[in-house]
Amino acid sequence: MKCRFLGGAEEVGRVGLLVESGDTRVLFDYGYVPGRPPLFPGESPKVSAVLLTHAHIDHSGMIPWLARRYRPRVYAVGPTAEMSQLLYADSVKISDTEGLPLPYGTEDVKASERIYNVITYKQELQFDGFTVIPRFAGHIPGAAMFEIQWDKKILFSGDLNTVNTRLVGGATPVKTDVLFIEGTYAGREHPDRRELEKEFLDRIDEVLYQGGKVIVPAFAVGRTQEMMLLLYKTGYEVWVDGMGKAVNEILRYHPGYVRNMKQLKSAERSVNMVYSPYGRKLALKGDIIITTSGMLDGGPVIEYLRAIKNDPKSAILLTGYQVEGTNGRLLLEKGAVNMYGVTERISSQVYFYDFSAHAGNTQLVEFVRNCSPEKVVVYHSDNRQELAEQLSEFDVVLPSNNEGFTL
Ligand SMILES: [Zn+2]
Ligand SMILES: [Zn+2]
Repeated sequence: MKCRFLGGAEEVGRVGLLVESGDTRVLFDYGYVPGRPPLFPGESPKVSAVLLTHAHIDHSGMIPWLARRYRPRVYAVGPTAEMSQLLYADSVKISDTEGLPLPYGTEDVKASERIYNVITYKQELQFDGFTVIPRFAGHIPGAAMFEIQWDKKILFSGDLNTVNTRLVGGATPVKTDVLFIEGTYAGREHPDRRELEKEFLDRIDEVLYQGGKVIVPAFAVGRTQEMMLLLYKTGYEVWVDGMGKAVNEILRYHPGYVRNMKQLKSAERSVNMVYSPYGRKLALKGDIIITTSGMLDGGPVIEYLRAIKNDPKSAILLTGYQVEGTNGRLLLEKGAVNMYGVTERISSQVYFYDFSAHAGNTQLVEFVRNCSPEKVVVYHSDNRQELAEQLSEFDVVLPSNNEGFTL
């Protein structure tokens, strides 16, 4: 079996793994990094299928580019197809309004709708020469690892979380010969989830008690719902704005893919949704606003930041990692945000909470050991060496982008 990363081997994001066995050629994920400027993977040759681990754009974002060129079949679990379609439409919109490069447009996005095949966990997919079975990966609803049954057993992790969050449960290891493991948090640990939640809620109490507002920037897919589940019973007036609302609607049709649909529905009923500019005004009279984008690059969050930027009693509670070059990183490092082309100082308080949906270093090492592979391929990481050293009992491979290797 011949393998080659088109991207995402030695970095977080723009994942694409090309796999060839005999005449069969497939891709595992094909995404880009939606930065400023965006980073794209290498150009894919003709493939007959794409096995998509989950909806996030750094794994799915290049599928519209494939759609009109090669018409591959895309296999994705549960809500992944609809959620990634939603993100594609947003990608096109952002590239149009901000003049960012994107190698496809609305027509390609439409064409990509027709090539998706919605599958379930454990559903066996037959290819010429091997079988693929999606396994539960935690991370976000619909996220899958792919088990490839060939002469050997190969497991491609995708993005992975082994601890339970409020939205989805954690992944369990699968025995395999070769393991492709993501290493986003190689060398870094997460705080204990319950303690983190307590700190976060205590901070909200404090800010509201002192008369401020709380802005919670959150990614549309996964984090918005996680925040709703965490905040809906606090008794505060919570508002939700941005693309996370559309994700809620999608999840309603895929109840089996969240840990507790009843709770998510209760959360949806308890919080207020913003549907209009007037709603935005009302939201600012409430207590907590959960809104996109998670890294403050566009979306309604900018409007809310503009409203509170001169108020030192209000607070911005970041809920995810802020990639270099994003507005969120600018806020953390310089206390400023770029709003419509102008860099503005923010006098409000800023805090960061690590609500990551990825396995931390300890969980990664534990997961690898429990899969008991012979060979481990570490990818989706900018700190692979550190993880490789902790996995010295295995044959560890650290391929570069565009470098072919065989299994
Ligand atoms: Zn990723
Ligand atoms: Zn992801």
